[in-house]
Amino acid sequence: MHTKSLSELSHGLQTGEFSSVELTQAFIKRINQHQDLNAYITVTEELALQNAKAADARIANKKADALTGIPVAQKDIFCTLDVKTTCGSRMLDNFSAPYNATVIEKFNQAGAVMLGKLNMDEFAMGSSNETSYYGAVKNPWNTNKVPGGSSGGSGVAVAARLAAYATGTDTGGSIRQPAALCGITGLKPTYGRVSRYGMIAYASSLDQGGPMTHSAEDAAIVLQTMAGFDPKDSTSVDLPVPDYSVNLNQPLKGLKIGLPKEFFSADLNAAMATKLSEAIDEYRKLGAEIKEVSMPNLKLAIPAYYVIAPAECSANLSRFDGVRFGHRCENPVDLTDLYTRSRGEGFGKEVKRRILMGTYALSTGYYDAYYLKAQKIRRLISDDFKRALTEVDVIMGPVTPTPAFGIGEKMSDPVEMYLSDIYTIAINLAGLPALSIPAGFINDMPIGLQVIGNYFTEAHLLNIAHQYQQVTDWHKQTPKGFE
Ligand code: GLN
Repeated sequence: MHTKSLSELSHGLQTGEFSSVELTQAFIKRINQHQDLNAYITVTEELALQNAKAADARIANKKADALTGIPVAQKDIFCTLDVKTTCGSRMLDNFSAPYNATVIEKFNQAGAVMLGKLNMDEFAMGSSNETSYYGAVKNPWNTNKVPGGSSGGSGVAVAARLAAYATGTDTGGSIRQPAALCGITGLKPTYGRVSRYGMIAYASSLDQGGPMTHSAEDAAIVLQTMAGFDPKDSTSVDLPVPDYSVNLNQPLKGLKIGLPKEFFSADLNAAMATKLSEAIDEYRKLGAEIKEVSMPNLKLAIPAYYVIAPAECSANLSRFDGVRFGHRCENPVDLTDLYTRSRGEGFGKEVKRRILMGTYALSTGYYDAYYLKAQKIRRLISDDFKRALTEVDVIMGPVTPTPAFGIGEKMSDPVEMYLSDIYTIAINLAGLPALSIPAGFINDMPIGLQVIGNYFTEAHLLNIAHQYQQVTDWHKQTPKGFE
């Protein structure tokens, strides 16, 4: 059952081949068998079985939606009523939200069955899922390697088939990067497409939730449930949600693909360059035209992002002070002691580093030099994409510089870690949609191909990914021991 696509699962449930309770039990068994991967922070077994029973009743009444009765796991950044939401931090180790995030509400309304909450980098800050208070997540393709971050638990839960699909969030690559390193499909929608209400904020102008699935076909189904205007999120965009599945089979003849020369420079790892050119050849065979484009400001994306994201995080995380939210230290002697010790104990090293960088960049005297400058660069990068997307329909490139690296390998060098975001971050600065699809293996580890489109063209991106998945089977591979 755990190897089936979402439409096969839905079909199986509706024809009575298996029940949602049976399906849920099968996934819970797998979660228990593979605890060593550390993908889940919380498993909600009782609640899941209760919801599965309700889903079975709904299916029997012929009121099922596409996701009714199918088990999902949620990144532990989405607030869940009465179920712990930790954001991977000691700060929120005891936190139960008094409400559901809009995304969670939408899955509940669809009758999805939540299996639990997934491990992640602390407050979504990281590229390897090693900064979690709950420990590193292991890549099922090689358990000595990282799964990518920050939605590492999501990447692993889907790759190891510990959930039928999962959610992730992407501030600078956190959906696409673990998708690439775990060999699954991940879509970061256009900024504003999916509600951020109840999604714990890291960098509000960049954060966006999206689906992490086996295939583009599954991602279309999941995005259908997640997307839409939300009056509770002032940055949510009030545009109709198209049918994401209806155009998956459109032929790609005449599609214009742009390859930024800055992505395919001599700096690109040679094995990665070979694999990506094989993937692009498949698109050529499907009738696409390939063209070089230039985006001269891409090289400024990392420095700009690592000013803007920490600046926003320093503001967002000020609410975790041991009074309004979060861990409170024992026996504070006065208010200052309460703040400093609560925050000192509650946050991990990387989060503290970001808060310090952000506070510095926003302080009087430095604001113009760093924050304002970074915002100007952000505009230049956005303009680069706008220009390129008038010449071509989509842009393709790598997702990560290399396949997954070893656990512990980059933890002592933050700059080295930040450089692993080099191909994903610019897309968030521009607010564009982009997805990662499995595109082969290097030394038995999966890699991804990134497809970047214009604003609100998710349906087209999914069509482009789906066509590739009709002629390749990278997305169907399963790590050994997890079949
Ligand atoms: N690696 C990037 C960071 O640490 C992006 C993380 C994310 O997308 N949440 O900021």
